[in-house]
Amino acid sequence: MELKIQNLSKAYSNGVQALNNISLTIPRGMFGLLGPNGAGKSTLMRTIATLQDADNGSISLDGIDISENKQTIRERLGYLPQDFGLYPRINAELMLDHIAQMKGVIKKGDRKNLVASLLQKVNLYQHRKKGLGTYSGGMRQRFGIAQALIGNPSLIIVDEPTAGLDPSERNRFYNLLSEIGENTIVILSTHIVEDVSTLCSRMAIICAGELMMEGKPKDGIDQLKDKIYKKAIQKESLDSYKKEYQVISTKLVEGELNLRVESDTSLGNGFEPVSADLEDVYFSHIAKKVDPITL
Ligand code: ADP
Repeated sequence: MELKIQNLSKAYSNGVQALNNISLTIPRGMFGLLGPNGAGKSTLMRTIATLQDADNGSISLDGIDISENKQTIRERLGYLPQDFGLYPRINAELMLDHIAQMKGVIKKGDRKNLVASLLQKVNLYQHRKKGLGTYSGGMRQRFGIAQALIGNPSLIIVDEPTAGLDPSERNRFYNLLSEIGENTIVILSTHIVEDVSTLCSRMAIICAGELMMEGKPKDGIDQLKDKIYKKAIQKESLDSYKKEYQVISTKLVEGELNLRVESDTSLGNGFEPVSADLEDVYFSHIAKKVDPITL
């Protein structure tokens, strides 16, 4: 099972180049697509989900070209978009039953069993009679996963699923995703590094429409071995540090700025070597395209 993206490009009519010659191969398991806001993640997700077309390039699922076989792909796809509308007064059970019917589960008894098992899986069974408008952010996302799982998809796309969730909701959502990631391709698009470090065996980083890195999170970290340094500085001196060093991220702590700097050679001047983490991998790649991010 494999999703293959080849030389994919997309420019919007306002001239924004949202995707610039992206090539990626995504195997079974949890795949993290990491990038800052505006990187092109949603554009890529919507293109894979057959909701919009690219200008150039191709995408295939197990050798089947998705733009030429949209219906076949839609039958194998589960999609949890970034914003999905919910009918606030309809309860979860009725809504899932309706979606299952639309997805072709014709027999009433089959639907009843399917809906009950999905509600149990996402831990919403006891809330099945409540209007969707009363759900918390975490419950909405779990409902979103339940609807995406109808039809046993071989490819599941979740776009920014943990934004706005509190830590316990996020954890519950992580557990759910990691369970379904075992037998399917799950693409998790996010700007939250922790989502990827917790869940994903493979990942890619995109920024300004370009692919910056692809591989295992651990390989990305290994590439930065012995190259990351930190130092606390006064806020005012940031600009002069930026001129002299490759600053990849800054974090404000009690009025001081904690700098993370990438360097191939050992640094003096009060810099302390630290072991690299996945945030460093992310910021090191996107710093090539955008200004260092203040966390
Ligand atoms: P992400 O999901 O990583 O935040 P998007 O794919 O939403 O990125 O957006 C990539 C770029 O394309 C951004 O600069 C965004 O403003 C632009 N963009 C997205 N959708 C449209 C659209 N329908 N029309 C014009 N520009 C768009």
